[in-house]
Order: sequence, then C-alpha cells, then structure tokens
Amino acid sequence: MKKVTEEFGSMVFDERTMKERLPKETFKRLEKTMKSGKSLDVNAATIVANAMKDWAIEKGATHYTHWFQPMTGITAEKHDSFIAPTADGKVIMEFSGKELVRGEPDASSFPSGGLRATFEARGYTAWDPTSFAFIKDGVLCIPTAFCSYGGQALDKKTPLLRSMEAINRQAMRILRLFGNTDATCVKTTVGPEQEYFLIDEKMYEKRRDLIYTGRTLFGSKAPKGQELDDHYFGSIKTRVQEFMKDLNDELWQLGILAKTEHNEVAPAQHELAPIFTTTNIAADHNQLTMEMMQKVAKRHGMVCLLSEKPFAGVNGSGKHNNWSISTDTGVNLLEPGDTPFENAQFLLFLCSVIKAVDEYQDLIRISAASAGNDHRLGAAEAPPAVVSMFLGDELTEILEAIEKEEAYGAREKELLRVGVHVLPKFPKDATDRNRTSPFAFTGNKFEFRMLGSSASVSGPNTMLNTAVAEELRLFADELEVAEDFEKTLHDIIRKTIKEHKRIIFNGNGYDESWLKEAKKRGLLNLKTTPDALPYLISKKNIELFKTHKVFTEEELYSRYEILMENYSKVLGIEALTMVDMTRKDILPSAMRYGRELCDAAAAKKSLGADTTYESETLKTVSSLTTGIFSMVGQLERDIEEAKTMGDVTKEANFCKDTLFSHMACLRASVDELEECMPSDTWPYPSYGDILFSVK
Ligand code: ADP
Ligand code: MG
Repeated sequence: MKKVTEEFGSMVFDERTMKERLPKETFKRLEKTMKSGKSLDVNAATIVANAMKDWAIEKGATHYTHWFQPMTGITAEKHDSFIAPTADGKVIMEFSGKELVRGEPDASSFPSGGLRATFEARGYTAWDPTSFAFIKDGVLCIPTAFCSYGGQALDKKTPLLRSMEAINRQAMRILRLFGNTDATCVKTTVGPEQEYFLIDEKMYEKRRDLIYTGRTLFGSKAPKGQELDDHYFGSIKTRVQEFMKDLNDELWQLGILAKTEHNEVAPAQHELAPIFTTTNIAADHNQLTMEMMQKVAKRHGMVCLLSEKPFAGVNGSGKHNNWSISTDTGVNLLEPGDTPFENAQFLLFLCSVIKAVDEYQDLIRISAASAGNDHRLGAAEAPPAVVSMFLGDELTEILEAIEKEEAYGAREKELLRVGVHVLPKFPKDATDRNRTSPFAFTGNKFEFRMLGSSASVSGPNTMLNTAVAEELRLFADELEVAEDFEKTLHDIIRKTIKEHKRIIFNGNGYDESWLKEAKKRGLLNLKTTPDALPYLISKKNIELFKTHKVFTEEELYSRYEILMENYSKVLGIEALTMVDMTRKDILPSAMRYGRELCDAAAAKKSLGADTTYESETLKTVSSLTTGIFSMVGQLERDIEEAKTMGDVTKEANFCKDTLFSHMACLRASVDELEECMPSDTWPYPSYGDILFSVK
C-alpha cells in the first residue's frame, strides 16, 4: 500500500505537479493568475491545458468536465472526451486552452430565477484557477464558475469569489492603516465540520420517503434513541470504520485534508472535519466530500444521509462553518496576539464581525435557511432561529471595560485603552464550551453553527464576507481621515460595542427564556425559510451587495425566486410522497390487518372466547384509518391548491401555513397507527430497524 504522504493529492493537478510539468515561465504566469484572480492569456492556457491533459491521461482519465455549482445545491458536470479525429481515421487526445478556460454547457434547465431568459438562453463556465483541477472517476474535473452571457452569476461560486474580493479590498485598507506593508492580499478561511448518517442500504431501499426526499416522512420513535448518550464519541463500528478509511483514502487523493472523524449524538450519526483552507477551495472540497461520502457508502452496502433531519425526534445533522480571515503572510487576523498593537488590530477586526452579524442578522439567518433545516433550528439540538454571538465571559468583560471606560480585572489599575494596553490572556478552550450559540468565537476564529448538513458553504460565506467587508469599509473610511489614529480607533471600538452588544449572548441558546430576552433586545426571530427570505431583497441588503459588487439587484431577485420556489417544491414532493405511501402501502396494510382482526374475532367468538383485544384493536385501527383516509384527501387538495397560487411568495407561504400543518397531522396519525400494528404487517422498516441497521 502507498504511504499517505505519497497518496495525498495524487489525483490533483496541484502546485507541485504544475511546477514539475509546466515550463518555468508558464508556471510563474499561472501562479500570478492564481494570486490575483485575473484570467490567463490564451498561449499560457494552451500550455497548461496540454500539461493537464497529459497528466490526466497518465492517471487513466479519458474525459474532462467543467465542474460547477449551479443553484440546485449539488455539483454539475458534463463529460467530454479528449478524443479528436485525425485525417487518417484515427483519433488523438486533445484538450485546448480554450476548452480549459471556458465551457458552454447546455444548461438551460438549471434554475436561474428568470435571469437567463432576459439575456441569452445559454450560460458559460469559466475556470477558477485558484481551485486545482482533479481527477474523479476517470474524469478530469476543472472547477469553474457559471455565468450567463450577460455576466450574471448563475451559480454559488461566482458570488463567493466576488465576496472574497470585497473583503480583501477592505481588509487591506485596514492593514495598511496599521502600517502593514508586507501583506499583499487577505483571504477568508473555512473549515466545515460535516455531520451525516450512515444506514444499511437494505433499509433505505424499503423506504420511498428516504429515496425521494432524503428524510423519513413517517416513523414512530424507536424504544432506544440517543437518551443514553452512548453513541457520542463512542467506539466506531467495524463497518463504519472501514467506510471511514476508504473515504479518507479517496479524500486524501483529492487533496482534501480530512482530519478528524467521530460518532455524533444520534445512533448512526457521524462527523468528519477537514483542516481549514481558503474559502472557495473549502467550498469545493466540501461539495466533493459530500459526494464521496455517498459514493463510498454505497460501496460498503450503506447509504449516507445528508438531509438535515432524516428522523423526527432524533438529532438532525448540521455543518459547522469555522471561519477566519488571514493574510497571505500567514497572519490570522482574528488571533488576539500578544502586544498592544496586535490586540488593537484584533479588536477592530472583531468589532467588524460583531457589527456585521448584528446589522446583517437577517442575511446570516437566510444563509442557513432551507426547508430541511427548518426542522432543526430551534429544536433543542441546533441553535434557535435567532442569530446571536458568543464571545465567552473573558472577552465580553474586556469589551465591557472598554465600552464603559472602566478598569478591567482586579490587577488593572488603569483604564483599558486600545493600542496602549496588553489584553489579558483569555483561555482558548474556555471559549469553546458553549455549544448552543449560532455564532461562537472559539479563540482565533468564529464557528457559525446554523448551517444544515446538506448546504453548500458558499452561500453563508458569501453573506459573511460581504457583511464584514462593509463594516471594514466604514471603519477604513473613518480611520483614513482621522487626525488622531489611536483616539479614533478607540472610539470606533467603543461605539461598536455600545451599539451592537445586543447581539452578544453567552448563555444557553436552547433556553426558552433566551427567546424572550432576544425579543426584548430587538433581535430577529425568523422561524422558517419563507419568513426569512423576504429580507434578502430588502433595500438595506440590496444596497450592501451592490456596494461590494457581490450581487446586482437582478441577481438578488432571481435568487429570492429560486429559493422560495425551491421551498415549495421540496414540500410539494414530500406531500406527494406521503400521499403515495399512505394510499399504496399504509391504508391497504391497515385494511388487511383489520380483516385479520375481524377473522380472529369471529373465530374466537364462535368458540365462546373473549375478543376484547381483537375488537378494541380493531376499533383503534379503524378510527385511525378513517382519519388518515380523510387527511390524505386533504393533502391532495392542498397540493392542487398550491399550484394555483401563481406567485412564488404566496405559494411558499401557503405550503408553510397550510400544507405543512396538514402533513404534520397525517404523520401523527400514521405514527400512531404504526404503534398499534404488528411489525410484520407494517410495510416499512421501523426507526429502530433503520437506526441500528449498521452493525
Ligand atoms: P474543535 O474541534 O474544538 O471545534 P478545531 O480547532 O479542531 O476545534 O477546529 C474545528 C475546525 O475549525 C477544523 O476544521 C479546523 O481546521 C477549523 N479551523 C481552525 N482554525 C481555523 C481558521 N483560522 N479558519 C477557519 N477554520 C479554522
Ligand atoms: Mg467545532
């Protein structure tokens, strides 16, 4: 077997490979492109394409694809082979510079929210040279952005790259003000912790709800769930261990820094965390990780569920987006540092995040909004739908001392002045204890914990980068014209703490009382996706995105449409699946069971035996069946009615208010029915069967 160090990145056309295979001059030009984000000239592109093709063919690839992330949330690829015919009737393997830098997938059926209709029917993909090409299943994949001919973003990567550029621009202004002349750019970094479920394929195949919607739409609670907390960090089962080993191998070959893995709280639930990297690369890697998890699970006779809430009453799966800002010289700008100077710079960056999260809590919330994640947020397993920020007691006290111009701690006699005093050290791991906060400072980075497991991290980081860029812009505007830099800096920090401390909450986010307190503080509580989405197109937010050239107004409206429509579609598919399962399996099973009970009762009666059990059970089954029959009719009428709304917002709200509650009623009755039916007559594997299916 190959050593991990040799295997790592073996399927990636990375810097080391480029250096080996490209002429020095071309490599230098490409390196420059990667740093600046500018496009590569045709000649250089041709040389790179050729080298890439030769490398890929040596590794067994026959096809290439522009790999991109349309608004569907999953990645898209269309394979083209390298072969080109020659005059003598043979073929050669070809790949031009043009094919490398630009592609034209026939993409007319990707969601565009009406964008493409107004311009050209087709979009094009453009190479993102900062994310390396890689080989997956014999196909050379080139990470690309996807735009319309009018230049509008049709994917998740384009706005992310724009937001990285925005925060780079503004953070560099701040760094120059602090006298930093050696950093040439600033990038945000992300390490996404990924949760998932692994279940046996045989169980999965028997559940149409899992197959069609990724989550169970029916299912009564298993006698044993997560009550004993015996799964969390418990020993990993052999089959799962083999899966994890295989997955790691695949990810390492793709240059993904998969680092830690452990069991999570729920039975059959696990987590994988990579080592953090530059945000756009982390986003690509996370998409690949999710894809690989599903592929590798299949190989092991299992299915990997990435849905946010596959099982009711059992913890769902999230994704923790660890986020920070770093210079190209390797300085983490959210690292408090040791000197008054470093502390002051840290405090300013910290304040930009505090202000951003407060002023743009709506966008932060929207970035984690999806039909699936609505089941998780606020369900005492994930943060509530209210955005707040955890800083830890020590840091909060320091900020309070600055705000109130008071002495900090017992030892400190003087007032705490930014840029003059050294911040007291606060223990790092103490800041990580609070697991209930949606947005927690963990010593030198923030952990945004609202994301659902299946989400792309592109959206949340686009929002976060842009909001922080805006605050840095305002700070820089003020500081650049300041007569007394130190005084202005101190005042900005004081003012920010004073005006935005309402977003800081170090207590238990799962507590009922927090929601009341949050309301008093005037924080938003956007419970569902349709509640949150309208904020995307508020005047304030359109302004923000326009200022930083991350989204045009048109692009924002198109995203609003896509997201609203997607919500209704997801609920519609779930409702249809419920109808299908109820009519085809559940009601007929109940009917057959009813007949069995009748037969048994009649037979027993003829023998003069007592039939209480049969007749009582029959009564319960019959009355539940009657209720279910009527509810399923109601659902069908709802589904029809939803189609007549003619407006995405109305339809989504109808789905949320009416369809959703009828689905919940139907589910409650079906789950009750499941509990009084013998297991061999119930048409589906139970929660217990599924959750404990992997031995
Ligand atoms: P914990 O396990 O206590 O949550 P870790 O330090 O292991 O803390 O971090 C968890 C995740 O955060 C990992 O993916 C890690 O790579 C990532 N991370 C660490 N530092 C940074 C950073 N500066 N920027 C972004 N992510 C980071
Ligand atoms: Mg963590």
